[in-house]
Amino acid sequence: MNDIEEKRSALAQGFQQFLTCCDQAEALITSKDVTPSPQMDFSSLVDSILPLPLDKDSPEGATMKQLQRMVIECKRCPLCETRLNTVFGEGVLPARLLIIGEGPGADEDASGRAFVGRSGQYLDTWLKPVGLSRMTNVYLANIVKCRPPENRNPHAEEMVSCLPYVKRQIQLVKPELILLVGGVASKALLNTDEGVGKLRGRFHRYEGVPVLVTYHPAGVLRNEELKRPVWEDIKKVAAFLNLTLPRNSK
Ligand code: URA
Ligand code: SF4
Repeated sequence: MNDIEEKRSALAQGFQQFLTCCDQAEALITSKDVTPSPQMDFSSLVDSILPLPLDKDSPEGATMKQLQRMVIECKRCPLCETRLNTVFGEGVLPARLLIIGEGPGADEDASGRAFVGRSGQYLDTWLKPVGLSRMTNVYLANIVKCRPPENRNPHAEEMVSCLPYVKRQIQLVKPELILLVGGVASKALLNTDEGVGKLRGRFHRYEGVPVLVTYHPAGVLRNEELKRPVWEDIKKVAAFLNLTLPRNSK
């Protein structure tokens, strides 16, 4: 750990100790047993007091706000020339589940928001039955932050250029689990040529974080037969996160 990281870590520990002192003071004042405060995530508070020094061109060490600014201004690959808006991602911080798709479509490009078009709305319907949503416990992002023209797959060089952003997003979102939707996201992040059919149904890891893979909602909208395997995958997500399945679910 370098100097600034040590200071940041000490600051976070200090906040936690302060909570313990408050617990002790409460116990003294009320003469009652007080439930100890849980371990808290102070990272955004630490970021605001002692931000990591920012190398202007490197997402490493950037805060979420700094990263978002970098993406807005990014010209690392040719997709910057045709985009209307960058689509950074959105949801809850920290999130229990981080969903990563391939890249913005027309609706996302027009609005600057991730997964708001038809497939995004469909994705929301997968999550709702198990108590997941971008409002409460999920963060949504994409491998590339700018729309590929005509919704073509992003080229390998475009994904390589954009990958440092999603890598830093994963560190900042701190998900318990990552769900990759579709072959493009799975191949890019898991560095494999295997398709979703081969990758789904078992756990993978990305930089230590557990990863599951499922089909892309756009693909499922085109092929009804994928609905059943997707529901199996969502149940796996729910089981891993200790979420309750709806009654009567098979
Ligand atoms: N498809 C994706 O992969 N991502 C989006 O944000 C929207 C559609
Ligand atoms: Fe930059 Fe990623 Fe957009 Fe390419 S796709 S311009 S790397 S933000």
